[in-house]
Amino acid sequence: ALTAGIVGLPNVGKSTLFNAITKAGAESANYPFCTIDPNVGIVEVPDPRLTKLTELVEPKKTVPTAFEFTDIAGIVKGASKGEGLGNKFLSHIREVDAIVQVVRCFADDNITHVSGKVDPIDDIEVINLELILADLEAVDKRIARVAKMAKQKDKDAVIEMTVLEKLKEAFENNQAARTVELNEEQAKLAKGMHLLTSKPMLYAANVGEDEIADPSDNEYVQRVREFAKEDNAEVIVVCAKIEEEIAELDEDEKAMFLSELGIEESGLDQLIRATYDLLGLATYFTAGVQEVRAWTFRHGMKAPQCAGVIHTDFERGFIRAETVSYDDLINSGGMAPAKEAGKVRLEGKEYIVKDGDVIHFRFNV
Ligand code: GDP
Repeated sequence: ALTAGIVGLPNVGKSTLFNAITKAGAESANYPFCTIDPNVGIVEVPDPRLTKLTELVEPKKTVPTAFEFTDIAGIVKGASKGEGLGNKFLSHIREVDAIVQVVRCFADDNITHVSGKVDPIDDIEVINLELILADLEAVDKRIARVAKMAKQKDKDAVIEMTVLEKLKEAFENNQAARTVELNEEQAKLAKGMHLLTSKPMLYAANVGEDEIADPSDNEYVQRVREFAKEDNAEVIVVCAKIEEEIAELDEDEKAMFLSELGIEESGLDQLIRATYDLLGLATYFTAGVQEVRAWTFRHGMKAPQCAGVIHTDFERGFIRAETVSYDDLINSGGMAPAKEAGKVRLEGKEYIVKDGDVIHFRFNV
């Protein structure tokens, strides 16, 4: 399963946010494919379409889809040089598929900042630099091996050297690998290097309790937004402390609490959705009277692979996918009228599943 890693300097609110995630506690029995590890928190993906489908079908049970966040504590200045167990943390980042960088945007004199003052851009640069330095080291190592072969006109080595040099130049200019323009062949080579700065990243701006209703006044948040714009990265504003407080409330209580604060949707819910997108994930639904359920697939996956998300037998014995888009189903007012209106398609092995498809798989056992 794909996972997003939570990183950030000490004392920015990572553990608080991660606590909120684990307290919100997805029913892990529903998600046997998820990892059981204290550093991994499973989150359910909030999806209003699932609520609508539940109203329409009135199933016995409704199950949202879920994915994982991994808590990567302890990155500090000098991590790429092995300081503060740095290399261990960097190797944990290597294993995640996307990065959520928590940035401290709350002022609180009682909480020490590692570098003595709250300065989100400074913080971001410290982290990003560590990631870049680690990648630079990896690229230099590779260059040392490939350069010789490239000199001897080995064709593959020549191509790889071009990529390595492009990456090296970017790193020396303080730029992430994800910003480097590469053609398809080059991109494939770069991907194989599993660079830290190739991973998609977003910023979670952690603001104070009194600022969450209107973060536009928060100067730190504004600066993070400006910085992120150049980086082509998304910024989600959260208040980790409030999220931790409301994590254990049920839906109604949570809604009431948020509306008292003047907030429409919890920052954590926004963060979950943005991270889901960042990971390149999408959702299809199954809708039976027993169970209405959301399932996660990667953009571009074909029908049999998507069936395999439910069970490997579904993939192996795949015959057809009876498919209707969420909009068509809702607009028709149910499965039977949708069928009558010709909105339900019979899709085969080559069908590329779309976000929002409601599917009934036919398969041989
Ligand atoms: P970590 O080192 O990044 O994991 O940071 P923690 O989650 O342990 O947070 C460090 C301190 O900041 C703790 O005392 C938290 O209670 C506090 N903290 C975290 N988020 C907020 C916030 O949004 N507002 C305020 N005032 N304090 C926060």
